[in-house]
Amino acid sequence: MRILVTGGAGFIGSHLAERYLERGDEVHVLDDLSTGSIENIRHLKGEKGFQYTIDTVHNQSVVAELVDWCDCVVHLAAAVGVKLIVQSPVRTIETNVHGTEVVLQQANKKKRKVLVASTSEVYGLSTQVPFREDGPLVMGAPTKGRWSYACSKAIDEFLALAYWREKRLPVVIVRLFNTVGPRQTGQYGMVIPTFVRQALAGRSLTVYGDGSQTRCFGYVGDVVGALVGLMDEERAVGEVFNIGSKEEVTIREVAERVKELTKSDSEIVFVPYEEAYESGFEDMPRRVPDISKVSRLVGFRPSLSLDDILQKVIDFQSGRQTPD
Ligand code: UDP
Repeated sequence: MRILVTGGAGFIGSHLAERYLERGDEVHVLDDLSTGSIENIRHLKGEKGFQYTIDTVHNQSVVAELVDWCDCVVHLAAAVGVKLIVQSPVRTIETNVHGTEVVLQQANKKKRKVLVASTSEVYGLSTQVPFREDGPLVMGAPTKGRWSYACSKAIDEFLALAYWREKRLPVVIVRLFNTVGPRQTGQYGMVIPTFVRQALAGRSLTVYGDGSQTRCFGYVGDVVGALVGLMDEERAVGEVFNIGSKEEVTIREVAERVKELTKSDSEIVFVPYEEAYESGFEDMPRRVPDISKVSRLVGFRPSLSLDDILQKVIDFQSGRQTPD
């Protein structure tokens, strides 16, 4: 198969490109390096079947040409990271809405299957935990910058499903929950690479709020396995899937685990949300996926515990291991 991976120089995209190449597929990465990095794909350069183009998904003619070349598209290019989203809302909305529009339009001309990466953010302030794909999406007020990300991704989902229903463009939508592993940078605020970097440098670990908010951290290797499985599965077309881990943990516990595993003397400090992000910032108190749908269809089962994942990130950041 020939697969176009938009955002393929990003954290998840580079792991996905690697997985497809390993099984003998051809991969073309399209990435504008806004949050991705050449470093993430350096080891793939020169590999048989690998090509890349540095450009944006807004560039219609480039997308058209690559769509023409490929059999299917995995659309991961997006503005990511809560910090970035709060700081650059225009870029977030334009990248996520217009970029997806271009990809779907071009894919539709050739009827290439498209996987659209959405996010657990779309559940917003919903309290129906664990979140099910058919449950409500509860957005906060538009005056709170964070929700622009959820809204822009929800529009992507509606648009992709509209293409399927109205034009029979085969689409698959995935809602990615917190995904971690080697190559993720803490640059855009993500908590685990940030805590590991802080602990290894002997700096304080910055827990935002009181640290009682929970998340479930999925390993990137498991997540890309689910993406590949869903792309191969005819019955996934026109459907939405949660992908993530079910191991729920408070952010305070994450800080404690990182401290212990790195044997660091760093302090854990609590930073008010308004200082960390912006005044009036709303966090999600709990975020837990119901993963029964993807498990049933493609046998998805998270393989690593939080400690295993943390250890991989620690090894990566201390230069002890190449990412797998
Ligand atoms: N967080 C934190 N310290 C940090 C970065 C993030 O306490 O240095 C918190 C953040 O407020 C959120 C959780 O960790 O409650 C996960 O944040 P992340 O940005 O990784 O992902 P999110 O779940 O917000 O998309």
